[in-house]
Amino acid sequence: MTRINHHLSDPILMAYSAGTLPEAFNLMVASHVSLCDECRARVESFDAVGGAILEDSALEVAAMSDDALAATMALIAGGAVEPAPKASVRKDSILPAPLQDYIGGDLADVKWRSVGMGVKQAILPTSKDASARLLYIPAGAAMPDHGHRGIEMTMVLQGAFIDEGERFARGDVEIADSDLDHTPVADIGEDCICLAVTDGPLQFKSLLPKIAQPFLRI
Ligand code: ZN
Ligand code: ZN
Repeated sequence: MTRINHHLSDPILMAYSAGTLPEAFNLMVASHVSLCDECRARVESFDAVGGAILEDSALEVAAMSDDALAATMALIAGGAVEPAPKASVRKDSILPAPLQDYIGGDLADVKWRSVGMGVKQAILPTSKDASARLLYIPAGAAMPDHGHRGIEMTMVLQGAFIDEGERFARGDVEIADSDLDHTPVADIGEDCICLAVTDGPLQFKSLLPKIAQPFLRI
């Protein structure tokens, strides 16, 4: 199992469990969870809480009490909830199974488009409230400098990148919000492939990416 240091946040995992995320974000969470035992276990805890709330609401007309939630959490803490099943990633692919299912193929089926300076991307069709794309950054190369209007989550599938003094490797997710203005740089040694999702258009700083932005459609 991949050693993962940068995880998804509880609010995101909870929203995933509740089914309130945009499709692109669901894809991100499902892909991360397929590589990460820790986050998968957390999602299953949230699922159990949500299921218990639904069950109890059906039995009792009264509103769901905090007691029932506490009782459910106690069940989880006590180990009454079954352990998470093993991840089912097809071993010969760097693409997690949910991503393979989503694009209906493997890495060889990805249609890359150059966005300049060796960087390539493939936009994945998804619902309009967010965008999803695969990024290919040559070893040692930088992503265009940009800020965000919304939340951006970037998960490494191959290689690694360095951003804001931290290193992100396979399975790690960087969560960037509108306060972060950043330039991730692919680590040397291996080309970096990432899955990136965002719920707002990126704001690029330098001229070249700004010209390219309409073509990037992000
Ligand atoms: Zn995780
Ligand atoms: Zn970013």
